[in-house]
Amino acid sequence: MSKLDNPITYLKGVGPAKATLLEKELEIHTYGDLLLHYPFRYIDRTRLTPISEISPDSQWIQIKGTITSVQTKGNGPKQRLAVTLADESGTVELVWFKGVQYFRKMLTLRKEYLVFGKPNYYGRQLSIPHPDIELLEGPVTFTQRLMPVYSSTEKLNAKGLNTKGIAKLVRTVFESIEPADVHEILPKSVLENEKFGNRYQAFINIHLPEDESVINEASRRLKFEEFFFFQIKLLQLKHARKKFKGLVFKNVGEHFNTFYKNLPFELTGAQKRVLKEIRRDTMPIGEADYSAQMNRLLQGDVGSGKTIVALLSMLIALDNGYQACMMAPTEILANQHFDTIRGMLKGMDINVEILTGSVKGKRRRLLLEGLELGFIHILIGTHALIEKAVKFKELGIAIIDEQHRFGVEQRSKLWLKSTIPPHVLVMTATPIPRTLAMTLYGDLDVSVIDELPPGRKAIVTAHRFEKDRLRVFGFMKEQIALGRQIYIVYPLIDESEHFDYQDLKSGFESIERAFPRPKYQVSVVHGQLHTTDKDFEMQRFKDGETNILVATTVIEVGVDVPNASVMIIESANRFGLSQLHQLRGRVGRGGDQSYCILLTDYKLSSDAKVRLQTMVDTSDGFKIAEVDMKLRGPGMIEGTQQSGDLGLRLADVIKDQPLLERARTVAKNLIEDDPSLEKPDNINLKNYLTRNQGLQRIEWSRIS
Ligand code: ADP
Ligand code: MG
Repeated sequence: MSKLDNPITYLKGVGPAKATLLEKELEIHTYGDLLLHYPFRYIDRTRLTPISEISPDSQWIQIKGTITSVQTKGNGPKQRLAVTLADESGTVELVWFKGVQYFRKMLTLRKEYLVFGKPNYYGRQLSIPHPDIELLEGPVTFTQRLMPVYSSTEKLNAKGLNTKGIAKLVRTVFESIEPADVHEILPKSVLENEKFGNRYQAFINIHLPEDESVINEASRRLKFEEFFFFQIKLLQLKHARKKFKGLVFKNVGEHFNTFYKNLPFELTGAQKRVLKEIRRDTMPIGEADYSAQMNRLLQGDVGSGKTIVALLSMLIALDNGYQACMMAPTEILANQHFDTIRGMLKGMDINVEILTGSVKGKRRRLLLEGLELGFIHILIGTHALIEKAVKFKELGIAIIDEQHRFGVEQRSKLWLKSTIPPHVLVMTATPIPRTLAMTLYGDLDVSVIDELPPGRKAIVTAHRFEKDRLRVFGFMKEQIALGRQIYIVYPLIDESEHFDYQDLKSGFESIERAFPRPKYQVSVVHGQLHTTDKDFEMQRFKDGETNILVATTVIEVGVDVPNASVMIIESANRFGLSQLHQLRGRVGRGGDQSYCILLTDYKLSSDAKVRLQTMVDTSDGFKIAEVDMKLRGPGMIEGTQQSGDLGLRLADVIKDQPLLERARTVAKNLIEDDPSLEKPDNINLKNYLTRNQGLQRIEWSRIS
C-alpha cells in the first residue's frame, strides 16, 4: 500500500464537501489522483505586469498597485464589488460577485496590494474577476519563483479551490507522503535506457519546480509514461485479439471470380496488395480450422478506389456462405453505395438491400426477415444497421465507410451481430499521419492505398476573389459547353442554422440568373430538403440531366459523378482543410482535366490564407492532414476527441510526436519480449495497468 492510495478526505484541509466536489469535478479520489492533476502553466512570480499592458489577450498576470476606490455596484444577483487598482502606468478594475461584504471590509483604500488573476470582460469593461489579492507590507518576497497554475472549475472556485487552493493541497500531499510512496512503474531497463530520474522527483519537479529545466525533464518522463502505458495497452489488446477466433473465408469462388473478370479496369497495385492482405487475414491459421478476426483500417485518399476493394472483400465472404454489410455515414452515401454496388453486381445472383432510417413499415419488416433467413446477401445502410432489431443469419464481414463519422459506441454494437465476431474493415479517406494512426488505431492492422488509378490528371486548383466571379462564371460556361458538370458548394456550419440556408438560397438564385433555363439546368441539395427530394435532385445530376449541382456540404463525402469536372467552393475560407480536400476529391474522377476553384472575398485570417495556399500547392492528402493538424491542433481531428480517454494529460500526440514514437518502439520491444508482462522487471507495470482499468475505456478499439 502506498499513501498515494489514501482517499482525498484524509488530506488536511479537505472536508467531506470539498472531497465530494473534487471527485465530481476533477475525478480526484486519492492523493495520487491529485498529483496527476498537473499544472497547465507556471507564473514567474518575480514578474509584475504594468497595468497599462493588460490586454484582452492577457493570461494569468500579476500586478502591484494601490487601491483608489471601493464601490458596491448593481442590485440583486448583479450586485458586485468594484475596486480600482492603480500603479504608475494606469488603473484596472477588480471585481467580486461573491463575498462582496467580506472583501469590502477587508480591502483598505490607499494601501498597496499584490494581485494575481486573469483579466476578462465584464460587459464592455476589461476587469479582473475574483483575483487573489494580498496586502503588501514591505517589498515583495517569494518563497517560490515559479508558481504552478492549475485548472479548476466554477464550483471548486466557489469553495476556495482555485489554482491557489489546489496548489496548497498539492503541497500538503507532499508534506504527508514519503518518496517511497511513489512507486516506480516503468521497468528498470526502460528507466535506465531512457535515462529517467526518480518518479517522486518528477512529481516534485512538475508541481514545485525550482526552474524551467527541471519542468522539462519531469514532463519528458511523465509524458513518456502516458504514451507508453497507452501503447502497451493497445499492443496487448492487439496481441490478445490475434487469438480471437475468426471466420474462415477459405474459397475464392464464383461471385468473386465472375465480378473480377468483368471489371472494366485493372486494379491498381495498391488495391491488389490490400486485397491480398485481407485474404491473408481471413485464411485459417496454420492447420487450424479458424482464422483470427480481422480488424483492419484501410486508408486511401479520396478517389483511390476503396469501394471496389470493399466490394471484392464482401464477395469473398459471400463465396464462403456468409453475409456482408456496409455502413455509410449518411443516407445519401448509403444510397449511392447501394446504387453503385447493385449496378456493378447486375446479372449476378446476389441480393443487395438497403436499410436506412427511412425504410419503414412493411418493407422494413420484410427486409429484416429476409436478412435473418439469409435471403439478403449484402446489406447496405446507415447507422440504422446497428439497431438491435437488425439480425443477420451469418454476418461474415462488416465494412465501415468513412469511419470518422461514426461514434465508437456505434461501431462496437456492430461487433455483437454474430457469435463469432465478423471481420471488420474500416475505410477512411481522412489521411492521418502515421504516428497519429498508430496512437489511435494502434491495435488495428493498417492497409494503405497509396496509388491513384492510372490516367487521373492532377486537379488544377486556384484561389479566386469575389471580383473574379464573372470570369469564373465564364469558365463554367465553357466547361458546360464541353459537356462537363459542375459542383458549387456553400458552407454550412450547422444544418439547423437558418441563415446558412439563406446563403445557399441566395447563391442558388444568383446562379439561376447567371445560368438561365432552359439552356442550363441547375439542381440544388441541402440539409433541409426531404430525403426523397434530395435523392431526386442528386439523381438528376448523376444522370447528367442537370449541369450544375448547388449544394451544401452534404455532398462532402464519397459522392461519385465521374463527369463532374469543376468544383467551385464558395466562401472557401470557412471550410477546414480536410473538408476542402474531401470536396475537391469529388472531381477528377473521370478522364477529363478537372478544376477546383476556391472563392473568397479579401478579408482572410492568416490561418485561412495558409489553408487556401496549401490547397493550391498540393493534392497529397497526407501533407494536407499534417498542415491541418498543425493549424487546428490534434483535439480538433475527428477521432481524437477522446484523447482524455487515452489517458493523456500532459502529452500531446502532435507536439510530442518524437516521444510518442519512442514510447511506441519501447513498448513494442517489451511486448514482443514479454507479451503478458510476467517477467519480474515488468511486474510493477502489470500491476499498474491492471489497477488502472483504462482498458475498459478503450474496449472500443477492438472494433474501431
Ligand atoms: P474512394 O476511395 O474515394 O472511395 P472510389 O472507390 O469511389 O474511391 O473510386 C473512385 C472512382 O475510381 C470510381 O469511379 C471507381 O470506379 C474508379 N476506380 C476504382 N479503382 C479503379 C482502377 N483500378 N482503375 C480505374 N478506375 C478505378
Ligand atoms: Mg468512397
